[in-house]
Amino acid sequence: MTERRTVLIRYDEIGLKGRNRKFFEKCLLRNIRRVLSGTDDIQYSSPRGRIFLDIPSSFAAECSIRLKAVPGIASFSIGISMSSDFDAIAALGVQWIEARLESADSLKFCVKTRRSEKSFPKTSPEVNFEVGSRIMKQLSPQGLTVNITEAEYVLEIEIGRSETVVFDNRQQGLCGLPVGSSGNVLCLLSGGIDSPVSAFMMACRGCRVHFVFFDNQPFLGRGGYDKVLRLAKKINHFQAKATLYVVPFEEMQGAIRDHCNEENRIILYRRMMYRLAAEIAERKGCLALVNGESLGQVASQTLENLAAVSCVTSLSVLRPLIGMNKESIINKAKEIGTYEVSIEPQPDCCSVFMPKNPVTRSKIPFLERDEGKIPWQELSDNALERMEIIKVDDL
Ligand code: ATP
Ligand code: MG
Repeated sequence: MTERRTVLIRYDEIGLKGRNRKFFEKCLLRNIRRVLSGTDDIQYSSPRGRIFLDIPSSFAAECSIRLKAVPGIASFSIGISMSSDFDAIAALGVQWIEARLESADSLKFCVKTRRSEKSFPKTSPEVNFEVGSRIMKQLSPQGLTVNITEAEYVLEIEIGRSETVVFDNRQQGLCGLPVGSSGNVLCLLSGGIDSPVSAFMMACRGCRVHFVFFDNQPFLGRGGYDKVLRLAKKINHFQAKATLYVVPFEEMQGAIRDHCNEENRIILYRRMMYRLAAEIAERKGCLALVNGESLGQVASQTLENLAAVSCVTSLSVLRPLIGMNKESIINKAKEIGTYEVSIEPQPDCCSVFMPKNPVTRSKIPFLERDEGKIPWQELSDNALERMEIIKVDDL
């Protein structure tokens, strides 16, 4: 058996792009090269609508794990390149299917062909028939049947200009758009379940997501900081090159606690977070803020309160989880591997000094009146001066 494998990568929405398609393709190819770096023995080619990799077969399993973390890939398959010879393709199919029949009494199968080379003398259904009938001749006595609608095993053939690739293991990718194609955003990352999911969702929309964490160290200890470092690292796995900003928040929080109305506390913390985040976003060239809010999930996430928070900045505030319920957010967090870290017990800075009756419909004039009681501009400048800037790739 050949020592090389061919990886066929299919795009997701890039396929729908018109004239700027090249830009998206380049972005995706760059990201794929990055995740596969460290292995020099890979050849890349990108005929229209596809990316092909030629890799050593010993790298196939690892390659598959890495490609599953790249936004913008709809699906991929790892197969074998060969000439378009029906006997040879069928022989390979027989070899693969026989291995499956060893552990089963019967198997429903079909052949699916796609031709990107339209000058090939046979149509796709004809190729399906030629290869399928050869395989059936050998394996029907062992329980193989043809079933196109309910196939348990699909042998796929992709006929291109220079080569034909045969595979049987189409794998689902993350879909969406390649990171870097939509620009930079800044995610307010707490140690909870929601904000890491929101960051992941924006990475899958082509954003490079940077992070800001408002740290309340003296009140809460280093646990929250460690969690956020690990969460940022997990999300960065899907994109690379993120920066994490850790802003000391204890003075601001102390001032709000001591001088402002108790029921407004959470909304006042948030307004300060947004002002600081907007300032960092501007310095970093981020085009929007991202957070993990979901409508009605907690008292601070009513429509009135969301509006009272985002109006402190003219930047777009993106809330990718706004319409999701907690259960689906948790499922997503489990899927992307952040859930286990997020549920480690550690109070969030907004839950310290939690008011007994937080306001659910805050009024902006009251919030502004409270803010007039503290030197928030000075506290903000001070916090930004002491901010820690971390390159997440180096963690
Ligand atoms: P999460 O699970 O992400 O913490 P949550 O349901 O606990 O969300 P809140 O505590 O109300 O929600 O926070 C809403 C959003 O505000 C968070 O998703 C996050 O984007 C932002 N946020 C809250 N606390 C912080 C913090 N200490 N640092 C940075 N962002 C924060
Ligand atoms: Mg939280």
